[in-house]
Amino acid sequence: MIEFFERRLGPYPWGQEKLGIAETPHLGMEHQTINAYGNEFKRDDYGFDWLLHHEFSHEWFGNLLSSSNYADLWLHEGAGAYMQAVYTEEFMGDAAAHHRRYKSYLAIDSCLSVAPRGEFSNDQMYEEGTGSAANIYTKGAWVLHSLRYLLGDDRFWDALRVLVYDTTEPELLKSPIDARHRTTDDFLRIASEVAGQDLGWFFEVYARTGELPLLVSKQDGEDVLLHWQTAKDLSFNMPVPVRIGDSTVRVEFADNTARIADVQLREILIDPNMRILRQLSSLPTCAEQRLEEAGSGVR
Ligand SMILES: [Zn+2]
Repeated sequence: MIEFFERRLGPYPWGQEKLGIAETPHLGMEHQTINAYGNEFKRDDYGFDWLLHHEFSHEWFGNLLSSSNYADLWLHEGAGAYMQAVYTEEFMGDAAAHHRRYKSYLAIDSCLSVAPRGEFSNDQMYEEGTGSAANIYTKGAWVLHSLRYLLGDDRFWDALRVLVYDTTEPELLKSPIDARHRTTDDFLRIASEVAGQDLGWFFEVYARTGELPLLVSKQDGEDVLLHWQTAKDLSFNMPVPVRIGDSTVRVEFADNTARIADVQLREILIDPNMRILRQLSSLPTCAEQRLEEAGSGVR
């Protein structure tokens, strides 16, 4: 597991001190150099102990990278959870990785943003109904998965390395180390620098807004028209993979819209490998979720 983190991110931050685990009755809690751990090394459906892996991920996302405001906690938990998804890709292959990601997609609360604006305490973030609670894990990981598609693998991992270490080529860190306090806006700045374009639109829709973007497709004469519908008509030009015949192409957007020429809607499949976080019919929309919570039974 540690080899995986070091290869994907960089050196274990406290390699000159220690890497320890203390077995406790509590399920798990990250602590710098020694995690509290109580999962009995059980393997999950993906063939490894997700909790041990998750707590290790916090040595990077949580202990080396820290946050001064709990509203930015998704940088700990979403990134931490995403590392289990990536490990599943490597360890078990695509089928297991898709399964894990789809299961976490279905757990998303489509009313809650992962990074609400303002100051939040830890208790507020985990408070039911107001905080972002489980969403910072599930949706947080999905935001990163979508960013990975947008940037491509190399630039995505570079962005995470700069976020955590300040550099794309981290060397073994000498102790003592000060944690780097990061905010969602820091991540926006870093990802924008790596991407060579302002990614404000990406973070506004995915991190700051609760409602997921909806991709509407329709036939328009000989062409297919794709349109991103967002809460408050936010600008959103997220490219989308589309399978046409035997090949999958990356369709770029302008003004939330894209046109695929000379093709029938029934001949294409949008985002065949689910690389992009969006509102699908399998997930209740925010409005549907609210109705459900109100006990109307309508869905
Ligand atoms: Zn965690």
